[in-house]
Amino acid sequence: MDFLSATLSRVKPSPTIAVSTKAQELKAAGHDVIGLGAGEPDFDTPKNIAEAGIAAIRAGKTRYTAPDGIIELKQAICAKLKRDNGLDYVPAQVSVGTGGKQILYNALMATLNPGDEVVIPAPYWVSYPDMVLLAGGEPVVAAATLEDDFKLSPAALEAAITPKTKWFIFNSPSNPTGAGYSRAELKALTDVLLRHPHVWVMTDDMYEHLAYDGFEFCTPAQVEPALYDRTLTCNGVSKAYAMTGWRIGYAAGPEHLIAAMRKIQSQSTSNPCTISQWAAVEALNGPHDFIDSNNAIFKRRRDLVVSMLREIDGVACPVPEGAFYVYPSIAGLIGKTSAAGTLIDTDEAFATALLEEAGVAVVFGAAFGLSPNFRISYATSDDTLKEACTRIQTFCKGLS
Ligand code: GLU
Repeated sequence: MDFLSATLSRVKPSPTIAVSTKAQELKAAGHDVIGLGAGEPDFDTPKNIAEAGIAAIRAGKTRYTAPDGIIELKQAICAKLKRDNGLDYVPAQVSVGTGGKQILYNALMATLNPGDEVVIPAPYWVSYPDMVLLAGGEPVVAAATLEDDFKLSPAALEAAITPKTKWFIFNSPSNPTGAGYSRAELKALTDVLLRHPHVWVMTDDMYEHLAYDGFEFCTPAQVEPALYDRTLTCNGVSKAYAMTGWRIGYAAGPEHLIAAMRKIQSQSTSNPCTISQWAAVEALNGPHDFIDSNNAIFKRRRDLVVSMLREIDGVACPVPEGAFYVYPSIAGLIGKTSAAGTLIDTDEAFATALLEEAGVAVVFGAAFGLSPNFRISYATSDDTLKEACTRIQTFCKGLS
């Protein structure tokens, strides 16, 4: 339609949001649907954090703030980056936005010119390529396969870089695979980047604290200090602190880039919710003991889901290091027909039939750039996961 912008025609709505919305609608209409689509913790926001939000309202902290965040939150972010990642930043190098999404979007909007390329490892989180397109750039997808445990090889990164590359987006533990890069694996990638001084690194560390079996999280500027001046380290409170709806994400990086991001935010949304900012101060500065107990629950659920999926002929599922996703391959099921007569010729057909015939909502792999797979978010109760995996097993057994 001519009325809409040409840029908009290059992008699609977020598939993760679409699947979770559809599952919610079906449930509300009385259908027996289990939603494993949305990537958000089922835990409540910890009480001390919620109380800090309530206290902010009571204290009248309900007005505009500086467009990219209050100084108290920027200081808490600097302290967190030092404590957890050994990185030195000052508040002028920090930007706070409405969720990790706005932060990444601001950074791309602030830096991309038409024709600029952004290297994105696949499987990728659904919004990276579309944000690049919205900002006028070109996503360049570099594939990581199941055989590589979904981790990008240095050779694949090297091959994807051209003179037009502006950014490399790095996400570990990964959405949608849960794959986490060890320090040595990350160092092998940062060694490639050292050879290409024109490439900047945008790192999405949102799943930092969701790691299992002793996995040691690390982030590019920490592993390779020589990249500090061209790295934007992005993170947020949504996943680790069960604060998805509060919408607070942040980034730290060179001051001129942070200033450019601030300019965009000052002309678009202004500050992220003031009340949420005060709650995030408490999240970052307050006790963190609940993270270990939440992780013990997530790890149990991961092991349950992986073992039940592995019982299915035609499904292959690696054990991820972190996040709350698994990304099984259904290569062995492609070409079969469901009990209701649907041809499973793509992972999208699989996910649609699974929802319609078995009442389980998952996100199809093509949305994340690697097929044929599907993503399960296991951030829901053990009983729900058992029931969902039993339904998936029965559905797959019914394929012929
Ligand atoms: N990041 C989560 C997901 O992948 C939330 C939805 C979204 O923003 O994509 O499901």
